[in-house]
Amino acid sequence: LFAGQSEFVKGVVAMNGLPTPDRLEVCFAGRSNVGKSSLINALTGTKGLARASNTPGRTQEINFFTQGPELYLVDLPGYGYANAPVKVVEKWQRLLKQYLSGRQTLRRAFVLIDSRHGVKPVDAEIMKLLDSSAVTFQCVMTKADKVKANDRQKVLDQVRGALSKHPAAYPEIVLTSSEKGDGISTLRSIIAHLE
Ligand code: GDP
Repeated sequence: LFAGQSEFVKGVVAMNGLPTPDRLEVCFAGRSNVGKSSLINALTGTKGLARASNTPGRTQEINFFTQGPELYLVDLPGYGYANAPVKVVEKWQRLLKQYLSGRQTLRRAFVLIDSRHGVKPVDAEIMKLLDSSAVTFQCVMTKADKVKANDRQKVLDQVRGALSKHPAAYPEIVLTSSEKGDGISTLRSIIAHLE
């Protein structure tokens, strides 16, 4: 699945803009600055690929990337922008809900959690939305290189506790560092084994 090339397909702002659901799809959610673009770039081995999603104006879009001919990687809007206007937030929450509950080819969501910070209230909100949309989700810890083993354990315990409250959570947590490459092949393999 990860042998082929990756390309940015489009940024979607409404349900009728979604690409034809003709392949396996996984999506990535996380607070802004969690390391989502870096992770997508590391997974695809394509530097600069997911940068588009970080540029102003693109942050409210659902960004689609191909990975070879059989997989879409979907970059969901980064959440936790304190200063985004209420109307904008509401619009993108509506789109997110529609996408998560209506996308037949979506096999799993990956919720990115900063290894230093653990699950924050906005992360729990997204997890609730995934529960109610019946989308199985899995936690990916980012920036693992930034924490000492001791602190990592504390955060992992906190994340496990949070996951236990969510019926749609898949229990295995993936530790990654896009910078060092840790966990990237594990995550590829998890995606490649989804049916
Ligand atoms: P996004 O807003 O979630 O897309 O986050 P980015 O991928 O743009 O990353 C935010 C910041 O964290 C950038 O300065 C990255 O260089 C840094 N970063 C991302 N992943 C890692 C990582 O694995 N290790 C370290 N040390 N820094 C990272």
